Amino acid sequence: MPEGDTIFRAARTLNRALAGRTVTRFDSVFAKLARANADLRMAGRTIERVDARGKHLLIWFSGDLVLRTHMRMHGSWHIYRPGERWQRPRADMRIVIGTAEYEAVAFSVPVAELTSARDLEREPAVRDLGPDILAERFDAAEVVSRIQAMAEADIAEALLDQRLVSGIGNIFKSESLFVARVNPFARVGTLPREDVARVVDAARRLMRASATQRPAGFSVYGRGARPCRRCGTLISHRKQGENARVTYWCERCQKPR
Ligand SMILES: [Zn+2]
Repeated sequence: MPEGDTIFRAARTLNRALAGRTVTRFDSVFAKLARANADLRMAGRTIERVDARGKHLLIWFSGDLVLRTHMRMHGSWHIYRPGERWQRPRADMRIVIGTAEYEAVAFSVPVAELTSARDLEREPAVRDLGPDILAERFDAAEVVSRIQAMAEADIAEALLDQRLVSGIGNIFKSESLFVARVNPFARVGTLPREDVARVVDAARRLMRASATQRPAGFSVYGRGARPCRRCGTLISHRKQGENARVTYWCERCQKPR
């Protein structure tokens, strides 16, 4: 699943290509969006900006309209010159936003909704989001307190709970716990506040770096049975939590307290 840093990069790329441009074409295979387009006449509107909130990508149009998409596992947005060959099959196309200069194509995006700024804030998936780990202004102490309130949860699971802090996904869950030397299976309630604070700080640093440049390589994520970069112990991996997301960690560097 794309994480906050990937969505952030996608939003920035889309914003560069689309902001200030006029919509010449708006197509969607989603009946609701096609209908909205017929009613609201997307063509002729200006794309004001594209940004991200947590893992939601938001495209803002003139006249108080915003297109919210969520990528889930396989969704992505691409930018093409008009007439350029698409890199994914036409059957995966969900939305096309055309301008004279570029077209933006959403492939396999499962969640898409055209709404107003006010209704966006009322949408539970957006309204209930915790502070965005990538936001310019970020209240780390608030996030640490929110996580600490989930005393019974495993720390790794708490990091994925978008209501506590938004934007962290499965990769940076493992990576930030490794950097902070915290065991992924530790109950939040057993961890001192400074440990939780170190994890949040690591997640923010790693993801901010990744949002502006592709990471050179991960420390633990995807490195099962390969040597820890710090101590040489073979990296462990195991499914964790309700959604059985795979967690990677070093048993030596991240010993339970
Ligand atoms: Zn290690």
